[in-house]
Amino acid sequence: MRIRLDRTMCDGFGICAKHAPEYFSLDDWGYASLIGNGTVPEADRPAVLRALLDCPVHAIIEMHEGEPVHDRPSQPTPGAVSADDDANGDHADAVRDERMLPGL
Ligand code: SF4
Repeated sequence: MRIRLDRTMCDGFGICAKHAPEYFSLDDWGYASLIGNGTVPEADRPAVLRALLDCPVHAIIEMHEGEPVHDRPSQPTPGAVSADDDANGDHADAVRDERMLPGL
């Protein structure tokens, strides 16, 4: 198992360090840091998985084979046009959904 910690999401609840202190340390304000490179041997998997599942803000993420390690998903370049924008240019889907739920 391989994990990463998104420190920008951590809210300092400290649950991870309680469950898996060998993998998470807390700073003076209670915010977590990952100890090591995120590789978790099978024997430690239950404790780390519990930390991952109990993190209230989902700041601990399980990595999968071939997935690049970075803190945040890549953001589109400002001004770049996505496939969605191409398809409906003016967020027509959102307008359509609104009409399907009158009164909301
Ligand atoms: S459980 Fe989640 S929110 Fe709490 S300290 Fe750990 S990573 Fe941060």
